[in-house]
Order: sequence, then structure tokens, then C-alpha cells
Amino acid sequence: MHTVYLSLGTNLGDKEQNLLSAITEIERRIGSIRAQSAFHATEPWGFESENTFLNAALRVETELAPLALLKETQQIERDMGRTQKSVKGKYHDRIIDIDILLYDDQHINTPQLTIPHPLMYERDFVLIPLKEILV
Ligand code: AMP
Repeated sequence: MHTVYLSLGTNLGDKEQNLLSAITEIERRIGSIRAQSAFHATEPWGFESENTFLNAALRVETELAPLALLKETQQIERDMGRTQKSVKGKYHDRIIDIDILLYDDQHINTPQLTIPHPLMYERDFVLIPLKEILV
């Protein structure tokens, strides 16, 4: 069993419902949720938008290997209607974004996956929810 920390963000539609739907899918497809932060309203980071974000962090126990986990988080994003990916560091409004922050104490550097997530230490919207649940 592996312990992973995920960051969730949304800034379109019914944001609270988007986070709740993502959490339900994570529990169904990825594993048991051991801890869940509060939902935090935050300003857009890295781009201009009038739509503020709602962010949360989760600690999840999973049997999935890192790349299988990434496939599942991306499938959940697609199933929830997310079409665009960020391209060359350009950000945009999104229904749901799921980032893998930490996977046990592993360091992974492949073209598809960087863990710990490279920008997590710069982003209060990631760190503040994460601090609530980090053990
Ligand atoms: P984004 O559109 O911001 O969700 O970025 C997704 C891209 O980041 C995907 O192509 C992933 O392969 C890549 N990626 C690299 N490291 C991670 C990570 N730790 N968690 C989620 N996506 C990652």
C-alpha cells in the first residue's frame, strides 16, 4: 500500500460539487481517503481570470503504481469534462485539476511525472491545504 497526497482545484461551475465529485471518483478508482483538508477559496495563480478557485488536499492509500495513478487522475479529469491541458506553463480556467504532490517518499523524474510536484513549494493554494493533513 502506498500513501499519496493529491491536490485538487476547480474554478468553473459549482466548485464545491466539483470537488465532491472528484473525491467520490478518487475513492472509487484510486483508494481510501485517509484525510481531507478544508476547501479553500483562492485567487487564480499564473493567469488572469475572474473565476476564483476552490482548492483541497487529500491523503489517499492506494495500490496503484505512480504512472497508473497518473492515468486514473487524468481519466477522472477527462470524465468530469476537462478538455484542455496546460500547455508550456500556460494556465486556464478548469472544472477540475488533480495533481500528485507526494508518493510515499519517492522522487520520480520522468517526462510524464515529476514527484514531488515541482511547483508545490511555491503555491500557497497547495501548501495551506496540505499542511492540514500532512503527517
Ligand atoms: P496540468 O494540465 O497542469 O494538469 O498538467 C498535466 C501534465 O503534467 C500532464 O501531462 C502530466 O504528465 C504532467 N505531470 C508531471 N508531474 C505531475 C504530477 N506530479 N501530477 C500531475 N501531473 C503531472
